[in-house]
Amino acid sequence: MAISPATAEDLARAVAMLYEQAELTLIDRLREALAAGIDSPRWADLKLAALGDLQAAITEVIAALETDASGAIHQAVSEAYDRGQQAAVAELGAVATGQAAAAAVALPSAPAVDRLAAALVSETGPVHLRILRATLDTYRTVIAEASAAPLLGAQTRRQAAARALASFAARGVTGFVDRRGRAWNMASYVEMATRSAVGRAAIEAHSDRLSAAGIELVMVSDAPEECPRCKPWEGKVLTRGGAGGARTIEVEHATEDGRMVKVRVAGSLPEARSAGLFHPNCRHDVRAFLPGMTRRPGPKEQRSRATYEQSQKQRYLERQVRAWKRKAAGALEEGERKRATAHVRAYQARIRELVAETGLPRKSHREQTGGAR
Ligand SMILES: [Zn+2]
Repeated sequence: MAISPATAEDLARAVAMLYEQAELTLIDRLREALAAGIDSPRWADLKLAALGDLQAAITEVIAALETDASGAIHQAVSEAYDRGQQAAVAELGAVATGQAAAAAVALPSAPAVDRLAAALVSETGPVHLRILRATLDTYRTVIAEASAAPLLGAQTRRQAAARALASFAARGVTGFVDRRGRAWNMASYVEMATRSAVGRAAIEAHSDRLSAAGIELVMVSDAPEECPRCKPWEGKVLTRGGAGGARTIEVEHATEDGRMVKVRVAGSLPEARSAGLFHPNCRHDVRAFLPGMTRRPGPKEQRSRATYEQSQKQRYLERQVRAWKRKAAGALEEGERKRATAHVRAYQARIRELVAETGLPRKSHREQTGGAR
């Protein structure tokens, strides 16, 4: 079984969902804090004096999130690593050679999993700092905007606060910028980072397992939706590790006779990856390459355009569900909350219709707040 980062992608959802849930809780805390005593003429002063209370509440939410996320990250990376190993074992099992027997010996996966998980946990550190700052900033902004026209009275103050809060809730905690300069919402950012980490774990596990079986070569698939960055590597044989560069090398023939054969390699797997292979949403995979045994794969089945468009439509509807859930959490007025909740239900109904119509798998976890951008 070949391995691709997509093999483990779904595992990132569990981590992202924790952030989506935490974001709803934060919006909730913020709304509660701002709503208390809003009709009092001394509201703005009271709110500024209570800043410490909100800070304590937010810090508590973040601490719980940190603990849960670090556990979920470890679990996701560990599962991804297992999947990668299993894929390699399945491939090795299919070629009944002495190498397969060697591969049956379990590899100690803990050090690799710990290392990959720790890297991701430290990548999410800045997210937690940003949560506190963004929430307190919003609190101050709402107070400032709502008290800008004190003479207009309580009703106007309420409306101004509701407006400022709603605009925060619509976006959620934002301001995460990736290496390409794109801004993300906190849950989407964490999901993206986790997807890339679990993808890395699966590929590494596969490669480690092949290495234990003495297999040094892999072959890249021919994906239906290729991108320019992956094109140079399509259908090519690569060394698992070591130096890059296209060259001809001599390797032992994989069948019993064990003679040496010449194989043309396009470079190394690390080289291909740093040149863009297995970028986010890449549909390529790699498998063990055994000279004299592995056949080049035929082009994969084309994914139909209609299916692609329908799945895009579904993603769009899921984003709407999440956005309206945030708006409901941030609604200061009861009527506004009801309207937002009605939108949540309406979009959920449209997803059900689309699923019934097309047979696409309904991913209800995707409708949790904040997943996509
Ligand atoms: Zn690709």
